[in-house]
Amino acid sequence: MANGSDIIFPAEDALNPAVSDLKTAHPSLGITKLFAQLKIDHPDWTVSEKRFRKALQSVAGSTTVSNGTPASSNGDASSSTLESVLIADTGMDPSIDIASIAPKVKVKMFSGGKGKGLVAKERLQQGEVLWQEEPWIVTADPELYPFLASKRMCSQCFTLFPQADPPLSVSCSFCDTAHFCTRLCYSKARSKTAAHHDLLCPGQNPDVVNLLTFIHQKRARSIDAVARIIARWRGERDWGDKTKADEIEHRVWKGMARVSQRKKEMERKEWEFVGEMRIHEWKLVHIIICNVLNPQPTDENYKKFQRLLIAKHPRKMKPPPLTDAEVDRWFSFESFLQLYGLVGLNQEDSGGLYALHAHLNHSCEPNIQVRNMPKSFVPPAPSELPCDLPPPIQAGNRGTNKLTMIARRTIHPGDELLISYVNIAKSREDRRNDLREDYGFWCYCPRCVREKKEEDKVAAASSMSSIQKDEANP
Ligand SMILES: [Zn+2]
Ligand SMILES: [Zn+2]
Ligand SMILES: [Zn+2]
Repeated sequence: MANGSDIIFPAEDALNPAVSDLKTAHPSLGITKLFAQLKIDHPDWTVSEKRFRKALQSVAGSTTVSNGTPASSNGDASSSTLESVLIADTGMDPSIDIASIAPKVKVKMFSGGKGKGLVAKERLQQGEVLWQEEPWIVTADPELYPFLASKRMCSQCFTLFPQADPPLSVSCSFCDTAHFCTRLCYSKARSKTAAHHDLLCPGQNPDVVNLLTFIHQKRARSIDAVARIIARWRGERDWGDKTKADEIEHRVWKGMARVSQRKKEMERKEWEFVGEMRIHEWKLVHIIICNVLNPQPTDENYKKFQRLLIAKHPRKMKPPPLTDAEVDRWFSFESFLQLYGLVGLNQEDSGGLYALHAHLNHSCEPNIQVRNMPKSFVPPAPSELPCDLPPPIQAGNRGTNKLTMIARRTIHPGDELLISYVNIAKSREDRRNDLREDYGFWCYCPRCVREKKEEDKVAAASSMSSIQKDEANP
């Protein structure tokens, strides 16, 4: 047994600075490893893990304040705090031709801060396909990276090939990281969806390798999307169509729900422990993105990047340099956090961003089902309606990244079209927490309200019965 004098219970003014130093020295270590390191550095100290965590919390808290970032009330923030987190600047997106994409649907601005949504113009029947939509940004599922690397999947539509490098497929002319089932997919990938944008092709823009390495190592699908959004805008601006560049700018900064990723993550309980690390990581990837898509004259990549811009220009001219406002809007750290948050709010499970689909609001009892149907899917003819919803996709028959919006039941003219952002099989509590954490709002849909009333009734009944029991057995 240790001699009593060997054991030291460090006071707070000794422990806290030690924990602070430890965190500064090992910014990437997790709590368990940091705790182990503390024991190594101070073998004579006796500190419980609980106490260590507390010290870590107070250290992290003071760092946040000293950085000038507003401290967040984690865990029990009021709904008003959370709702103010969302900059749901949901103006209209004039670049979408709704009448031709979805003739039975129109955009409506709702009052009371709800923003825009979609409503039915006509009666819709169960099983009816309202519209199908191709993404304007696509990203590959990290699980499928090995298929991309071995030339067994199309980098644009993600169709799996029956064999590696099949006869009709084409590879990128500049690099060996992208393969396509057809020429059409290759051209879509370069311009329409940025699945393999020229600015993000490592054969044309060498620094892309660093970005791809980061994305693949961290399986950072959202970062992938952020880079593709910026590349699409920059490509249209520098050698494409000025109107399209303006459209993308409008869609991103005025047409889509947005939130700063920092504000969003600060609401999470673990922020106090991981916040500093997250910011460090974001700063790193922000620098990588800037080096790739807006290198400065002092950067190694600068000359090659300028040559690429000139080569892409229709008259082989050097495009005008970015204005300060453009740099601020697309390449500042704050904009990076906004784009990152925007992707989190708007990216579909298939990894795509969709212009019209992004207008759909949430309900825990949705009247619209969103599906990625296989290429062979044919929407039911009017004479076949109403009909059952299509069965789940069979194994081996993967869906494309085209979205299909299907009516789950009869929808009347003027009814809002609603999808679910979360798994509707989950409990009310879980759905609400998921929505709060990932989308920044508390759900007050009719189902949530109804289930809350039922829960309250059950709670009231059980407390009543316990009171009665107490009275019966005084
Ligand atoms: Zn394809
Ligand atoms: Zn390429
Ligand atoms: Zn709900």
